[in-house]
Amino acid sequence: MCHTLAFFPTPYPDEDFRSLVYRYHIRVGYDNFYSTCLDLYGSKLNRNLPIPINMIALTNKLPINCGIDMESLLNHNTFWPLLRIYIHESNFSKSISSIQYGRNTIGANRYLIHSGILSSQIRYCSECLKEDFHRYGECFVHLSHQINDIDICPIHHIRLITHCPVCNINLTNEDGTSLLVTPYCLNGHSLSNLHTEKCNTIIAQMQLYHNVQVICENSKKLSQKEILLRYRLACIRKGYTGISGSLEKEKLFNDILDAIATSPDSIVALVDYSDVSRTLSKPIFFNYLYFHSLPFFIFLMYFFYGSVEELLHSSFLLTDELNKVFDGVLTFTRSEYIQTHLILKNLLLSFDEVAVTD
Ligand SMILES: [Zn+2]
Ligand SMILES: [Zn+2]
Repeated sequence: MCHTLAFFPTPYPDEDFRSLVYRYHIRVGYDNFYSTCLDLYGSKLNRNLPIPINMIALTNKLPINCGIDMESLLNHNTFWPLLRIYIHESNFSKSISSIQYGRNTIGANRYLIHSGILSSQIRYCSECLKEDFHRYGECFVHLSHQINDIDICPIHHIRLITHCPVCNINLTNEDGTSLLVTPYCLNGHSLSNLHTEKCNTIIAQMQLYHNVQVICENSKKLSQKEILLRYRLACIRKGYTGISGSLEKEKLFNDILDAIATSPDSIVALVDYSDVSRTLSKPIFFNYLYFHSLPFFIFLMYFFYGSVEELLHSSFLLTDELNKVFDGVLTFTRSEYIQTHLILKNLLLSFDEVAVTD
């Protein structure tokens, strides 16, 4: 089935893709969500996916001159720019192809759920609900409100809500097929002008939000492999690799835990100490970012590079050749390793000097 859609909503600023799909669903007037998914994806789903599937077909069906393209939808209305860094290269092409052509697989959405990036329940800011309804005549889901580790609105700094504070009814359903279009709960209670409780981690949450934005804006320059390579380079430079070629894990992990306990950066308020201990004890710590919670993921960038921006600017030496050196480390003989280690150390030092004199 490949007919042009008569209509597709224009995204509002910061609108979550599920909200766009829901607005389509409401406008076309289907009484079930299956028909909506059949229209958009060519498959009979009964859930509202945070990351679209079968997008090539979908964008071909969009009305001509509607000004929406696949790239812009993914970058501005989904968490794909952040998620793509979390997906290991062995699963990356599978995820891309599910987004482009998938009909019977939820693909990248599965990684999004397991990454812990996305809040398990759709959240709203009562001030945004009021302002959006006033400005656009309808309410919508903001993407920036759905980051699991940030439970305040980045604009209004008040706590986000998932339930009506008066009758406690859920504002959405579990599969995202029923969302708010007005600032009222199903029982008619107003969700505007709520008295919301104060949050004492506003600075930390805003710091996390800022860093998420920086990563999303630069996510094309980063991949999981490149971030891990940068961490490995930082380990050599900071003396966490012994002469035998192995990572001095205990020293590194103790220093990371110490840094969490003493760091002046407000973001550490969001890092769960016991969660970090568990993550560090996993043997694959330096092979996957998959198990890193978002605050810890960002904190590691602070730990190794001082800030996310610094890590992004440390684009030196990111060549396949160097990767091969690292991947081959374990098969080196002792003297080969010592030689490589010295070369790398000198290279890093000379690059530092270049950076300073620039
Ligand atoms: Zn707000
Ligand atoms: Zn209510």
